[in-house]
Amino acid sequence: MAIVEGDIVLARCGGTTYEGVLMPSTTGKTVVKLKNGYNIGLEPGNVTLELIDKKSELKGPQIELPAPNPKLPNISILSTGGTIASKVDYRTGAVTSQFTAEDILLAIPELTEIANYNARVCYSILSENMRPEYWVKLAEEVNNEIKAGADGIIITHGTDTMMYTAAAIAFMIKTPVPIVFVGSQRSADRPSSDNAMNAICAAKVAVSDIAEVTVVMHGSTSDDFCHIHRGAKIRKMHTSRRDAFQSINSRPLGRVEYPSGEINTYLDYKRRGEQELSINTNIEPRCTLVKYTTGASPEMLLFASANYKGIVLEGTGLGHVSTEWVPYIERTTQAGVPVIVTSQCINGRVCDRVYDTGRDILKAGALEGEDMLPEVALVKLMWALGQTSDFDEVKKLMLTDIAGEMTRSSRTSGVIHNNF
Ligand code: ASP
Repeated sequence: MAIVEGDIVLARCGGTTYEGVLMPSTTGKTVVKLKNGYNIGLEPGNVTLELIDKKSELKGPQIELPAPNPKLPNISILSTGGTIASKVDYRTGAVTSQFTAEDILLAIPELTEIANYNARVCYSILSENMRPEYWVKLAEEVNNEIKAGADGIIITHGTDTMMYTAAAIAFMIKTPVPIVFVGSQRSADRPSSDNAMNAICAAKVAVSDIAEVTVVMHGSTSDDFCHIHRGAKIRKMHTSRRDAFQSINSRPLGRVEYPSGEINTYLDYKRRGEQELSINTNIEPRCTLVKYTTGASPEMLLFASANYKGIVLEGTGLGHVSTEWVPYIERTTQAGVPVIVTSQCINGRVCDRVYDTGRDILKAGALEGEDMLPEVALVKLMWALGQTSDFDEVKKLMLTDIAGEMTRSSRTSGVIHNNF
């Protein structure tokens, strides 16, 4: 019988055998998806294939979904794509979004014990393809769902740029209900996938009293708890580990035990109903982040100020750049383009009053970005310039804590969660 894509095969190559699903290939190699979820590409000339099983009729689990339970809260799931939304079709190799509530609930039936769901696809993209204008539409969708009575929102999102979108939504929306971002580092077809546990913990937070924009992701390498992070205080700190997300310059807001779902909080937070719903999506996307590196030409700043309305500078240490950059900073700020200094250290607070270069940078009109993450300062600058083009007003907004992005003192923070 002919072997076709989707069949389970035994591939023999150079004395080694690999069992798995024969996948479509775009590279001319013979691609086999192994049981551990990884794909292996083999040179076709060296491979012989033996058919183990015809699998063209692969079906999902046959479960009946329960009817909505009027006693449970109603959660809206807005999908933007990323690994958490992907499922692999072994017949075609295509990665598709699980876009209906039914798809998600069939994949993770435990969710039905927590809430009733209504789900919608906003985007089906990898998060590296996110754009500031997509944040705006997403914020509008969130606003509509809350207005329509959702008791909580879950936003599924790729992990790569989740911190930008979470920060953007935190600046754009004041929320009376939880808005929870969740993603996964490993897709559903891999035994070590984190998507179900992250989604279950996210649902627990979405029905909780924590009415803030948060990110819920694995808190350790085991399947024992998820951390609840503030949306404007996180960074993805590892390319592949499931506990890649860390709160920077702050403790996480709390944690969700798994599988019990018990929530413990470490910080004070806004409670359900404490704030009225309001939305402000005005942004100026023409802002950029410039990283100072040893020997970098200050002319980068000329280019940036000619093409952008605001600049976040990622300086060294306490927030420094080489002295030859200072006159360029001055030219930039005098041209009405705000320059916000952040640090490449990410942990700790910018303080440009200690060394000469720092003082000169401040004299040149730059602003200290306190303990904000550089990318959060960038999103905030876009939002601030969307509110006003008045230089002093922008400065005032940049120095006001809007969404928990700045902590007052680093004494209790500056915690380096270096557990890798
Ligand atoms: N590149 C993917 C994304 O950010 C990775 C992920 O989803 O985790 O969309």
